[in-house]
Amino acid sequence: MKKLKNKSKILVVGLGKLSGLSACNFLAKKGFAVYASDNRNEKQLGNILAELDSSVKVLAGSQTPDILNEGFDLIVLSPGVPKSIPLIKAANEKHIPVIAEIELAYKYMKGRSIAITGTDGKSTTTSMVGHILKEMGFDVFTGGNLGIPFISYAENTTEDSITVLELSSFQLETIDEFRPDVAVILNVTPDHLDRYSGMDEYFEAKLRIAKNQHGDDVYIYNKDSEMLSGKLDGIGSKKLSFSTTNKKADAYLENGSVFLRRNNSSGKILDTAKMKIMGMHNIENSMASILSVVSIIEKNEKKIDIDRIAESCYSFPGLEHRMEEAGVVGGRKFINDSKATTVNSVEMALRSIPSGSILIMGGRTKGDDYSRLASTIKTKIKQLVLIGESVNEFKNTFRDVSSVTADTMDAAVRKAFDLSAEGDVILLSPGCASFDMFTDFEERGKVFKDSVRKLKEEVSCI
Ligand code: ADP
Repeated sequence: MKKLKNKSKILVVGLGKLSGLSACNFLAKKGFAVYASDNRNEKQLGNILAELDSSVKVLAGSQTPDILNEGFDLIVLSPGVPKSIPLIKAANEKHIPVIAEIELAYKYMKGRSIAITGTDGKSTTTSMVGHILKEMGFDVFTGGNLGIPFISYAENTTEDSITVLELSSFQLETIDEFRPDVAVILNVTPDHLDRYSGMDEYFEAKLRIAKNQHGDDVYIYNKDSEMLSGKLDGIGSKKLSFSTTNKKADAYLENGSVFLRRNNSSGKILDTAKMKIMGMHNIENSMASILSVVSIIEKNEKKIDIDRIAESCYSFPGLEHRMEEAGVVGGRKFINDSKATTVNSVEMALRSIPSGSILIMGGRTKGDDYSRLASTIKTKIKQLVLIGESVNEFKNTFRDVSSVTADTMDAAVRKAFDLSAEGDVILLSPGCASFDMFTDFEERGKVFKDSVRKLKEEVSCI
């Protein structure tokens, strides 16, 4: 990409309250002529405009290719906007570079970086890697798709910093020179098939995380994934794998302990029973985290303190709305897994709970094949409580299991309670997006926890 001059005209496409807004404000402060395009009108953009640097010219409402007549030197595309829209297609024809906010931020970053992607587990693993490195005394920034946009802090990094980034496939679509020291792909299962033409396109977007890696860069992948294990040829960095089933991996599970293979010998690093976060998926996340931390410390030529890494894994508290205990009412344990929006994450949640549990699920579907869950639901779940737009579809897909429906979360929690017995687990793991009933998964999780709290008060009054 050619070097930008002070008077360069930059168009930011997609004025989301995180990535797009932060990119505009950053570029405006740098003195560029910044334009922001969004298909929402000014009224719909509301508060976002109030936070926007006053020098940014807003092109709200229509997002047609004639916007390009202004003559832009660069386009920064927000992850929420598909690159298939006519505006971006026209920009490609005119050879205007189109980059992600991540790519822009990378140009200003100093120090080392660890980039983490995958269908599920990105936020947990990014936070866990950040937690371990902080506990070990490193200067760490965590962000990207999680929390603070990368562009908001890239300039604060120093040569000693380690940036840990959660990256979605959308953000990876338009990276160009971005080259993380450590790249991680946790898993790849069907998701966002409403945006991609199929699994191959989605997978290719994820693999872009390692496309510029070479030399002593490290690529960490899940050996249990056939897709990931079968796609190693084009990767130019050192490859490390993790597995819960294959002892040939660089980090593997044996009798409840995680072992790490280094310099041709392997040693025990973690007793998984001591971790606060539950489930096999979190063992995978911890293995990916350990490999990331060890790789970055090796790159920094620092001594590796295995015991401290293990202690930091044990103290990691996990994240809200991911297999989070939401309370015990009348001997039933309620678990909030509101962040489970994919079939794979529900499958993982089901594997972490006992048979005979109650599952609250449903919402807005994302083009996934839910029948993949039917056999696990049949073995693990004695009663389904269905919510949201997908009620009829799920009633049919999971017809072998007894199900009831509920219009509100309060009603779902109440029904789940009434249909359960002391000692049961009641899990909210929706497997769907939340937008039919809630603003996002966080609101859904909070409403669930509130419903459990209200139920507890009611039950204790009886
Ligand atoms: P992401 O940021 O990729 O959406 P999160 O860490 O927020 O991932 O977790 C999302 C959901 O996926 C939660 O329900 C969580 O319990 C589940 N999950 C976490 N890690 C994994 C994994 N490695 N494989 C499958 N599911 C996972």
